[in-house]
Amino acid sequence: MTNRFSIFSREQAIAQIKTTIFDLIVVGGGITGAGIALDAASRGLNVLLLEKSDFASGTSNKSTKLIHGGLRYLKQFEFGLVKETGQERAIVHRLAPHLAVPEKMLLPFVTGGTYGSISTSLGLKVYDFLADVVKKDRRIILDKVKTLAAEPLLNKDIVEGGGVYSEYRTDDARLTIEVLKTAHSYEATLLNYAEVNSFTYSNGTVNGVVFNDKITGKEITAASKTLIVAAGPWLDSVLGKKDTGIKKKLRLTKGVHLVVVHDKFPIRQPVYFDTPDERMIFAIPRGRTTYIGTTDTEYTGALDRVVATKDDLTYLLGALKRVFPKVELSEADVESNWAGLRPLIDEEGKSPSELSRKDEVYELEDGVIAIAGGKLTGYRKMAQRVVDLALDRLDLPHKIPCRTSLIPLTADPFTNYGMVEKAIAHYNELAASESLGADWGWHLITTYGSNSAVIWRHFKESGNAGDEGLLQSELWYGVNHEMVASAVDFLIRRSSRLYFDIQSMVKYRNQVVDYLSKEFKWAKKRIKQENDLLDLYLKDATTYYKTENPDS
Ligand code: FAD
Repeated sequence: MTNRFSIFSREQAIAQIKTTIFDLIVVGGGITGAGIALDAASRGLNVLLLEKSDFASGTSNKSTKLIHGGLRYLKQFEFGLVKETGQERAIVHRLAPHLAVPEKMLLPFVTGGTYGSISTSLGLKVYDFLADVVKKDRRIILDKVKTLAAEPLLNKDIVEGGGVYSEYRTDDARLTIEVLKTAHSYEATLLNYAEVNSFTYSNGTVNGVVFNDKITGKEITAASKTLIVAAGPWLDSVLGKKDTGIKKKLRLTKGVHLVVVHDKFPIRQPVYFDTPDERMIFAIPRGRTTYIGTTDTEYTGALDRVVATKDDLTYLLGALKRVFPKVELSEADVESNWAGLRPLIDEEGKSPSELSRKDEVYELEDGVIAIAGGKLTGYRKMAQRVVDLALDRLDLPHKIPCRTSLIPLTADPFTNYGMVEKAIAHYNELAASESLGADWGWHLITTYGSNSAVIWRHFKESGNAGDEGLLQSELWYGVNHEMVASAVDFLIRRSSRLYFDIQSMVKYRNQVVDYLSKEFKWAKKRIKQENDLLDLYLKDATTYYKTENPDS
């Protein structure tokens, strides 16, 4: 390995970039770009990935956080999509059992709802068939009594029965980071805070990019034989830097999720339920919280700051009220929210919910390959398709086939979910023996998997003590092994605290900024910028604006 996946190796990486002609440059460090970098690097290509902000700071930390086949796409007859993503679920689970946690999803069928008992039974059967679901995990249909026993909070006046089927819960940002770390172990060069501003050409064919190193403010040119743009919602704006020749453009739709303490909405398992406007939304328990989402509305606002509005809040709480009448939730109960953009392929005349979630690959006349659309769940197959295409362009003596289905996403990985549960119990015991908070075992294992051992070892060896001490070791890990460059990288993308434990973000923010300012020798101006950024993120996660423009 050339260097560590740490900001401390950044100078070395940039020196290397200036003197290398890469086989492939990837623009965008969300799950799509990360998957491409891993696929290409593991097939022996020399890869550079550039991300303008932090890794997974775009849509890839704003999803519903499910590794799922998308049951509702059956209604749109998207059998190919359901089959591919449905089958991918088991693979992602095998590669990272702590990040693709098996869950039984309850789908209640309600009077006048989308699914009745026959269509639910049939739909779930087709779903299981397409996704190749093993026998023990196949769908079960429940009558009204059993459905209400499974979830007593449901509205007994409208529930007629339910279906139970298998899905996986994930953490999208963590999945992206682990895919990137694995790409790095195959010697891919990966830079966050590196914004691509233009393309370079030789005889009309693209041969590199010029990017701004946002840490030093310097412009740097990077050369490559092929170039893939995986910029999610920013695709049009990145390609707008040149004449694209793309006919179809993206259509962006916004999705909002609300987070409440689990005690306020104590569902026993994830529930996928009807909304009054004939959509479906999820309520998903996760650790100390339950989250609810999502909305699906046309979006034309700013890409770099997407916020939740009063309408989003009213819509989600209203939908909940109908199916869970005993659950009394108001704005004051909502701890946090996130709002993300779906980078969907535009299709005229279709409403947001009708737009396909398929991915599409564009080969542009100047040699650029661009990929848009798709789902978190399908990242591996999307990457395979695009890298196959890039390989066709490269003059190589032999081409290695895709092998990412066999590459685990952490070192010393757990091999099944039983091991994950045992590890959570083990770390809970360790935490109790040090008189630490009750959630540490769950937090460490579902966030870092087997790498929790590295954090715990540092905690013991450094002489750190108490909850603050373990947090410091977690932060040390982020800085030295996960390319943390800013307090928000750690508190949002690496440890999910903004969304799922917002009080801990408030409690520890000063400690995090202090630690990083010493490690990175920040001047007062930078410390102020960090605090301003933390204030802004905390404000947006707890505010419901009048319009999409938070400054209006
Ligand atoms: P992004 O994650 O947005 O990454 C693109 C990256 O490109 C960004 O980080 C951006 O900063 C970077 N970039 C932009 N311009 C430049 C530049 N000039 N230079 C360098 N970098 C640049 N899928 C599922 O499978 N399961 C779900 O449960 C699910 N739920 C969803 C719910 C919602 C509300 C939404 C919005 C999406 C959901 N999806 C889900 C879809 C999934 O989240 C997306 O398909 C996926 O995250 C898109 O990843 P991406 O890498 O293409 O885009």
